Amino acid sequence: MDLDIRKTRTCERCKTVVLLDKVRLLPKNNEQNILLCEPCCNEVKKNKVALGTTKAKTVQSSYASYFCNRCRYNFKADQSKVGLTHNLSCPYCGKIDQLEQRPSRQEVPKLVKQTL
Ligand SMILES: [Zn+2]
Ligand SMILES: [Zn+2]
Repeated sequence: MDLDIRKTRTCERCKTVVLLDKVRLLPKNNEQNILLCEPCCNEVKKNKVALGTTKAKTVQSSYASYFCNRCRYNFKADQSKVGLTHNLSCPYCGKIDQLEQRPSRQEVPKLVKQTL
């Protein structure tokens, strides 16, 4: 192996060292290009993978806790679906007037008692 380091570049995607004449450049955004090896370039082009900007595409279903004061029934509903595919109502009594949304445990910051 007598690779001349000056004639190589590192693929920004898979970190493979690529010979300069095998390097491909793809526009990353308006100002920058991304340096890719040939396989990565093909893959990116094929899949149209968004480079650089990782758009928050993860739509997570967030279950929220609800409480029906009418029948004191606790249940969870997928907030991302509420209002879209179904209307929120108590599964027990079917009413909505006494519903209370309870913050899910993950969203509630734990009270950390600092002993100072
Ligand atoms: Zn690569
Ligand atoms: Zn109810």
